[in-house]
Amino acid sequence: MKVRIVVSYVPRYRRGHRFHFVPPVTGIHLAAITPPEHEVELFHEQVRPVPVDASPDVVALSFFSGFARRAYALADRYRALGVRVVAGGPHVSYWIEEALQHVDVVVTGEAEAVWPSVLRDLARGTQRRVYHGEPTSLAGLPTPRYDLLEERFLVPRVLQATRGCPFTCSFCTVPDLNPGFRVRPVDEVIRDIATTHFPRFWQEKVAWFWDDNLLVQRRWAKELLRELAGLDRWWLTQASIDIVKDRELLDAMERSGCIGIFLGIESLDEADLKSVDKRQNRAREYREAIRKLHDRGICVMAGFISGFDDQTPEVIASTADRLNEIGVDVPFLSILTPFRGTPLYDEHRRDGRILEERDWPHYSGYGVAFRPARMSPEQLLAAHRQMWNRAFGPAAVLERLARGARSLSRGAMMLSAAMNGFYGLKQITGNEPAAPPLEPEGTIRHPAPGDAPARLSRLGLKRSASAADSSVERTA
Ligand code: SF4
Repeated sequence: MKVRIVVSYVPRYRRGHRFHFVPPVTGIHLAAITPPEHEVELFHEQVRPVPVDASPDVVALSFFSGFARRAYALADRYRALGVRVVAGGPHVSYWIEEALQHVDVVVTGEAEAVWPSVLRDLARGTQRRVYHGEPTSLAGLPTPRYDLLEERFLVPRVLQATRGCPFTCSFCTVPDLNPGFRVRPVDEVIRDIATTHFPRFWQEKVAWFWDDNLLVQRRWAKELLRELAGLDRWWLTQASIDIVKDRELLDAMERSGCIGIFLGIESLDEADLKSVDKRQNRAREYREAIRKLHDRGICVMAGFISGFDDQTPEVIASTADRLNEIGVDVPFLSILTPFRGTPLYDEHRRDGRILEERDWPHYSGYGVAFRPARMSPEQLLAAHRQMWNRAFGPAAVLERLARGARSLSRGAMMLSAAMNGFYGLKQITGNEPAAPPLEPEGTIRHPAPGDAPARLSRLGLKRSASAADSSVERTA
């Protein structure tokens, strides 16, 4: 069969992006695990339009909640042409009934265990409507299909070396979607980096790990970093802040070419962190943690969330200055979003705080889908935009770059300059995050407040840490 993989996208800024840093890993990974008897093509809607024609036998759609309406519209158009559509990813895993109104087949959870069977059944015409992908061992996974990537991505070498996270932040779907913590064999990860080549200097040099918490399992992480050190590459990833307590790990990160770490700092206030069970973070330790990473020349990218119950518009707006004070090099500023499958969604649903009239575009990370405790939804949106504009205004950007020039390694400085330049340019040209449309395109049928929470772990599958092929070393 001819399989067209489409990774949906909707611009979240007023005038979109001129540059595209990285692709998601989903499309190139799904292409790689597609059995060789099928022909695969891949489209990232982020960088080029997706043709809607009858040439593929199957279209596989991947998207998250914020892009659901766009993905459903595409699916409807393909199906009108007689093309069968499969959807997977975090959104459809929790909104199966909704997705089945637009697609032929839904794959929940992780694709590896079921993708070959889904395609085999589609080829025979015996497909089921729903397949549940159990978490499986990550050993033996193929190298992502970088050859299918569009050239417009600045950093094409993206990969995943682990899956899952041992923490349980209440707004995050990872603990249920990717239960336990599993690692790939180090030699297979190294193979993916060492054997793939790209035309430009920085493309050849950089490996971007799309992991949720790459360095959790210390013994494995140190082995990976030892091998990485021999490759003379630069790498970046996401990790939890407890890594700074392990000096040996920090040294290994520096030696192996780490140029950037994304930390989910989320809030500068302990009460906010407690309210979402972010127990590994201590706000009072942020400054020291960031200093330790700077001592190794590593750029600190940090995620902040607006919309916690204790926050007011003034607190949110002032965060822009406070994050510069603690030393963050690149801030990532989003709005708290109650995704189904999380304890946060269940609490807000129970308490009647979900704004039911607000459609999926409000679930993009830049919209407000719930009733904040101490302000109106409009005030939260305005406070977030005020913070965003202050954080990426020329003064704040220059302050971060000047500090970075004193503390960051060459690769880390390039990373910081590229990202601060990217967002700083958006700010001075008025290209801020767009406000999601208030007019809904469809109706979200939220479950009744008393209904059981949606959890893949309740499907009776072996979705627990015991299904993982490695144990977890908790360090926070
Ligand atoms: S540490 Fe990050 S990945 Fe892990 S549960 Fe919290 S938000 Fe999710």
